Amino acid sequence: MAEKRDYYEVMGVPKNASDDEIKKAYRKLAKQYHPDLNPGDKTAEAKFKEVNEAYEVLSDKEKKARYDQFGHAGVDPNFGGGPGASPFDGDIDLGDIFNSFFGGFGVGRNANPNAPRRGRDAQASVTISFEEAAKGTKKQVSYQRIESCQSCGGSGAESGTETKTCPQCGGTGQVRVSQRTPFGVVQTSRGCDRCGGKGKIIDHPCHTCGGTGRVRKTKTLEITIPAGIDDGQTLNVGGHGDAGTNGGPAGDLHVFVTVRPHPIFERRGNDVWCEMPITFAQAALGAEVVVPTLDGKVSYQVHDGTQPGDVFKLRGKGIPNIHGRGRGDQYVRVTIEVPKNLTDRQKEILKEFDGAGDEQRNYQKRKSFFDKIKDLFDTEKKE
Ligand code: ZN
Repeated sequence: MAEKRDYYEVMGVPKNASDDEIKKAYRKLAKQYHPDLNPGDKTAEAKFKEVNEAYEVLSDKEKKARYDQFGHAGVDPNFGGGPGASPFDGDIDLGDIFNSFFGGFGVGRNANPNAPRRGRDAQASVTISFEEAAKGTKKQVSYQRIESCQSCGGSGAESGTETKTCPQCGGTGQVRVSQRTPFGVVQTSRGCDRCGGKGKIIDHPCHTCGGTGRVRKTKTLEITIPAGIDDGQTLNVGGHGDAGTNGGPAGDLHVFVTVRPHPIFERRGNDVWCEMPITFAQAALGAEVVVPTLDGKVSYQVHDGTQPGDVFKLRGKGIPNIHGRGRGDQYVRVTIEVPKNLTDRQKEILKEFDGAGDEQRNYQKRKSFFDKIKDLFDTEKKE
């Protein structure tokens, strides 16, 4: 297998390129190599794939950071780590940190270690195409989350052994301490140091989870992405985050969505914008032109005398509202191709036209000129 090229090199941008520069470079390359624009070209297809892979990493803050630090190994799922791997590999909870800082006094929301606690939210990211965002799609996402250990059923004790109730705190995880102060005897409670506040003692910790009862696992889930989703939006999938403890509910899964820019279409709100090049003759005479839309090609009658920069609207051809009602419009900005490499005959006719411009009122003459020029350009094209 060939050595993988550096993603920045693939995109043709420097390592310190901004998000905007990366996006711009992607649009340019996607236009250059898009399979629709290079039918049957295997090299272009391979390039398009390579560019998409590079963009998927460089457009994602987290993946980009890992790529910058570790290179391809940092973002290749085959190298371990995998999607969503975080530097905090353990099940760290702010409450735990708080308790260890303050000597385990029973303060804060985790006063009772046996109370049900909701799992933390997990993170995943997915990259989809412009069309997929417009129409909605289903995607498999892989991410890491904490699950209850299957070897010990979440108890933390090696199978065949049992957890014992802590004799020091009687399973409450808390012990009362009396302190003599100038105001009298004050009773406070603190976390039991025998069982670490868990209320249970494990003599033989489970070999899979090391006694925590919880393991980090890579999970693959199919998610439904609604039509109309935009670049940078996050989907919330309820109940697919980290498992809860003591019977608490699981956290949610947040899926960060990146939408690849389209080589032709540009999104503004729910509207789609594109540029449409037409010939000089089509602009002058009016013509039926074929316009690409998200629903396929449609024909549109360009009126005569169309100017460069004129914009026409295709109602309802934009992106569906993500909340399920209505659709944006498509706006088409006309650009006009000035003919190059004219033949002598074409030049002659154009000169004639320039002269005819002086006779503003001579409409019939100009009309016959346009018919001539139309025929001429049509036949020249076919040759
Ligand atoms: Zn276990």
